[in-house]
Amino acid sequence: MFVTESANAKINLYLDVIGRLPGGYHRIRSVMQSVSLCDRVRLSVRPAAKTSVTLSCRGCFSVPAGGENLAYRAAELFCRETGLRLRVHISLTKRIPVAAGLAGGSSDAAAVLRGLNRATGTPLTAEALSALGATLGSDIPFCLTGGTQLCEGRGEVLRRLPAPPRFFAVLFTPPVPVSTAAAYAALDKAYGGFPSGEEHASSDAFLSALGRGELSSLTGNCFNLFEETVLPVCRQAAEALEVLRGYGALTARMSGSGPTVFAIFSGRFAAARAARALGSFARVVTPVCPRGHV
Ligand code: ATP
Repeated sequence: MFVTESANAKINLYLDVIGRLPGGYHRIRSVMQSVSLCDRVRLSVRPAAKTSVTLSCRGCFSVPAGGENLAYRAAELFCRETGLRLRVHISLTKRIPVAAGLAGGSSDAAAVLRGLNRATGTPLTAEALSALGATLGSDIPFCLTGGTQLCEGRGEVLRRLPAPPRFFAVLFTPPVPVSTAAAYAALDKAYGGFPSGEEHASSDAFLSALGRGELSSLTGNCFNLFEETVLPVCRQAAEALEVLRGYGALTARMSGSGPTVFAIFSGRFAAARAARALGSFARVVTPVCPRGHV
């Protein structure tokens, strides 16, 4: 049997680090938004005497093909959890830039979990799938259902939020890698390991603007704490933010731990004009709605 899933990228409309959790993880408060940029995940699934997983990838050479790939690991994990013995082939078409703060790997893994669950008659509930995904990566529970969600804990504690008003976002990913671990280490140094549990911006202001459906007030309250430590060492991202602001963006911010930056416009043409100014690493995306099924 063949199933195809789209694996959408996310942007962080709001991202704060507010403390540490018992296991040493950072405690975050983030509003993630799925966007139209996506990878395609096609699965071939057959019953077998013994589980085997293979993966082929088009569109990107830097993504690992074997057990290092999150999509591959998700398939193995699904078989182990359900006790099903399957021969799974994953054909991945990458469009989401890698290690870019857009959760490309997590979204691929979530798409594999969704696709395998669908192909095998839904042996796992939505809650079980989410818990399983969380063992592989903190962003995977969000990526399973997508849309607009408040993500707390280490990112796996989710609350569905109203969708924002329609907007057009320009994404720009400078061709420089940013290590998420290094970005957290820099924040730890700057904030003394986050002992206080305090916010560094107002999530209440952001959430109430979202609730009122006011794009200008919502964009006025977008935030990303990582900008403080990543932008000073990632000149291309900082310069792109300036360009995007110069083109009249309602807001221009970094996504995740970067290096991708995004800018929000209310009109498609203004967004396209700003994207053209940044050249081939920029694209226009739109927010996408939550998934109806798991
Ligand atoms: P996040 O926003 O969740 O931190 P990211 O967008 O910054 O994620 P990814 O694109 O998920 O980063 O890649 C992070 C690392 O994961 C890379 O070093 C990459 O080699 C590895 N990786 C494993 N599987 C995948 C995959 N299917 N697609 C992309 N990267 C993958």
